[in-house]
Amino acid sequence: MEQNVCQLCGGVDFRRLPVRNIFKNCGYDLVQCRNCNLITVNPMSSRDTIRAFYRDEYFEKDYKCGVKGHSYYEEESSTIEKAKQVLSLVNILKPQGILLEIGCAGGIFLNQAQKDDYQVEGVEVSLSMSQKAQELYGVKVRQGDFEEVEFASESFDVICMFDVFEHLRNPKEVLKKTHRILKPEGIVVIDVPTTKNALAFRLSVNLLKVLRKIRRISLPPYHLYEYMPSTLQRFLNQTGFESKDVHKYAALPWKYLNEDGSGLTRIVLGMVRYLNYFLSVTFKVCTDRLLIIAQKGKDVVWEMEDKCKVQNERNKNEEKEHQVVNS
Ligand SMILES: [Zn+2]
Repeated sequence: MEQNVCQLCGGVDFRRLPVRNIFKNCGYDLVQCRNCNLITVNPMSSRDTIRAFYRDEYFEKDYKCGVKGHSYYEEESSTIEKAKQVLSLVNILKPQGILLEIGCAGGIFLNQAQKDDYQVEGVEVSLSMSQKAQELYGVKVRQGDFEEVEFASESFDVICMFDVFEHLRNPKEVLKKTHRILKPEGIVVIDVPTTKNALAFRLSVNLLKVLRKIRRISLPPYHLYEYMPSTLQRFLNQTGFESKDVHKYAALPWKYLNEDGSGLTRIVLGMVRYLNYFLSVTFKVCTDRLLIIAQKGKDVVWEMEDKCKVQNERNKNEEKEHQVVNS
């Protein structure tokens, strides 16, 4: 599907960035909305194509989306470390309650959350990972696509997404559903890479433009959207959330040593990543990770948008009926 309307601002004017993913003989370009700067892939992958990305090999070999040889379980100690940090922040706003993780993979985070006395539940698109989470940690996991799984309204206190939001096809719809199934004043936790905010991306895009070249990456377009702190916050505000806690931070550069690409590209990008890490930690600029904790608010803009749509439809139908009566 060609991207012709921006999901965030409704804009129709996109610039093409010199980066292309190649998967099964199809090219996926990165494009950026000229109005709000949201970055997305073009064309957008179909739901079936996306499901095919997340077979067992993804969790076994490609869990870092482009950094070779990383498996989900290899990341266990850093996932536990991060879970503890995030739960200490969540605990300030919601010290107990029912917690849902969207894209829970093998359940390592959910297991930490249940140790902290949260009642936990997960939803996971991979059948084998959802089974492993249940077998290893005894957590309840519903297998399927979050958008298609039924959840009762106002049933969770906390909903978390770690390195998931950028993989979603309909981010705004996911946030609307998240809002609906959270209890009043419930919180959403979103942790995403903001690599397009980092020096490596900014420098390489400008260099590629000057050289009139395109960087080709032989991987599926795992990230369907790329976020900046401003675009993610705008999505949250539009769907009725109020940001409570925003952390811009830096990924550890040695995690990217096996990055996809030729030897020279990897050496240059590696050096830039170390420089970026220094800048991020010292001056808080060019950060390539973002964690936002936002609370369900009372003013829901999208409900008003939807009501407007319904009203417009009614008006149109009434007009038609009126015409029929008059004819
Ligand atoms: Zn836009």
